[in-house]
Amino acid sequence: MKRKISWDNYFNYSFEDLEKIKEIMGIDKVFAMALMPVRGKEGFRKLDYEFAANELDVNEIMDKIQECHFNTFGLVIKDTDGACVWDTDIGWNPTKRDILGEFCDAAKERDIRLIVSFTSMNDAYQGSIHPERVSVHGKSGKKFGQKFKAGEISTHFEGEMRVDLPENISIEDYKKKIPFLTHHKDEKKGKARSTRGKGYKPLTSFMCPNSEHVDYLIELAKEVVNNYPIKTFIADYIRYDGAFTDLCACESCRNLFRTKYGTAPKILTSSEWYDFKEDTIVNYAKKLHYAIKEKNKNCITGWFCLPGPKKRFTRRKIAQNWSKLSNILDIVSPMEYPYLMGTRDDGWFWGKVGDFFHWYFIRNMKKRAHEFNSPVLTITNSVECNRLEMLKQINSFDFGFGIGIFKYFGTSESQWKALKTYGKKEFGL
Ligand SMILES: [Zn+2]
Repeated sequence: MKRKISWDNYFNYSFEDLEKIKEIMGIDKVFAMALMPVRGKEGFRKLDYEFAANELDVNEIMDKIQECHFNTFGLVIKDTDGACVWDTDIGWNPTKRDILGEFCDAAKERDIRLIVSFTSMNDAYQGSIHPERVSVHGKSGKKFGQKFKAGEISTHFEGEMRVDLPENISIEDYKKKIPFLTHHKDEKKGKARSTRGKGYKPLTSFMCPNSEHVDYLIELAKEVVNNYPIKTFIADYIRYDGAFTDLCACESCRNLFRTKYGTAPKILTSSEWYDFKEDTIVNYAKKLHYAIKEKNKNCITGWFCLPGPKKRFTRRKIAQNWSKLSNILDIVSPMEYPYLMGTRDDGWFWGKVGDFFHWYFIRNMKKRAHEFNSPVLTITNSVECNRLEMLKQINSFDFGFGIGIFKYFGTSESQWKALKTYGKKEFGL
């Protein structure tokens, strides 16, 4: 019999499952800070390889992590641009630096646990060199001012990150280093989440989860687990692009669907089609989980989950089946970022937007937490919100196994002070 545990018995995992994870991690509760090495030194709206290659100071970062009583550090080893920040024979590493190796050493010296985050289907670089693996639109439409047609690949302007040109280099020359960069530019910073970046716009691609991209990802994961002492490996973007409902309608997906379900059910709109998409993501989760376990059976596997309405968003857009995915992977990390949607620092209205999403995310979790069959470790944001909003999120979304905070660069001085006080109280010796 599974005994249900805390957060008012909302979740569906056992004490034993959680105890096992805690034992492997060697801690009772997680207090983690995450870092995205390719997003520059301020927020997360930049893509900045020069900073990652030349300025990122691993020891300085880890000293600060330790000083603030964090017991765990999250490192994004592969971001949505597709760069692999380790010593890789298979992937693309524009920083030419073994950032993962450096963090492994620095974490070990300080007895801090390392969690790696691995972006899966969203991969701008792979989209640029393998357009034949990019997911394909099933119908024509328009989104964020960009038109697309049925049959076209889903390569669009990147929503979050922008690029500044380094000194003395032209955009044409810089495109040789970043093949998915364009000459389009956002001159002004907006307040809505999708308009906060400033600089040259890169393209981004969601790859087809039934393409060879999956084999590439599995090889990368094996390389990481084989060559580095990784204890926790979490897959991010283990899903379809949430901006569209018509992905992926490539020939290969259509054929696989027809082989399994016959000629009757409709592509794009039938319940069978949504099952097919969910199972496609589940199959990737299985491949990834077993590839990792084969190399290291004690490596904890996990996935980042986007909260939202079950039918309209989770199933029809991103195809993340919470119960199936959490039956396979060891832990789940819901991304609870209400105050990334709006912060009081941008004025009364945006504060209310953040408050609304805070209320909604709690309600959504209460309604849906029973779909999680594994331990839950939330990640929440410090970047682009204020100290009080951050603390509110830390308290609301710690479901019993601690909390991860996103992210290192972009956390304000007053937030660092508050984190240190919180860490000392909860985790200090
Ligand atoms: Zn496809």
